[in-house]
Amino acid sequence: MTKMLYMSDSESNYIKRFEAEVTKAKGDYVVLDQTAFYPLGGGQPSDVGYLEWDGGKARVKEVLKKSVVKHILNGHIPKVGTRVWGELDWELRHAHMRMHTTQHIISGLVYDRYGARTVGNQLYSDHSRIDFAPLKIDQESLNELESACNELLSKNLNISIYEEDRSVLEARIDKRRANLDLLPSSVKRLRIVEVEGVDVGPCAGTHVRNTGEIGTMKIIKLQNKGKETVRITYELTYPLAV
Ligand SMILES: [Zn+2]
Repeated sequence: MTKMLYMSDSESNYIKRFEAEVTKAKGDYVVLDQTAFYPLGGGQPSDVGYLEWDGGKARVKEVLKKSVVKHILNGHIPKVGTRVWGELDWELRHAHMRMHTTQHIISGLVYDRYGARTVGNQLYSDHSRIDFAPLKIDQESLNELESACNELLSKNLNISIYEEDRSVLEARIDKRRANLDLLPSSVKRLRIVEVEGVDVGPCAGTHVRNTGEIGTMKIIKLQNKGKETVRITYELTYPLAV
């Protein structure tokens, strides 16, 4: 099992460089005893970056979570037992974090205002999209949604990440709002992402520690996807220096 270094708390989402040991090397991939690379999943793209070791370096093209967490490499493949340094493409990862936290805030606002659930989402570094159902929304309401989101983003709200028993979470929040009722019943312990005073829900993704890092959200497209499903596409603008 690979220890996922970004899981434990908010600060761990900022690990950009880490040391690890190769536990498996096969074909074009390696498995590590621990990693800070986020594997593709939950609408968030895989991290990319580099692995470096004594006498070698390889690009991490993609990280996939199958039965094991595979770091797919371009270049030489280090042997089992090799100590390696991993380094994330931080600009890309931080963009995904900003997009992901914003997605939680928009999803929460849409649920509170219209009772529509998030039925899909795909994050990228330059734009992202969220599908809501059932939802009908006009341009005026969309503008209001954008303003409400930006007001929250400007408040420098803290984001905390922690573990909690599912039963404890279920007793204190609206299960539909966080899509908790859709999680398999076998899942008893959850990793929670909480945007201070705004949104609480289970999520395995990576997030900023404060909304002040996000900047301004702009809705750039509204699409009707049929079956009462509406797709909202947004982008973020901010002169970042993190
Ligand atoms: Zn999430």
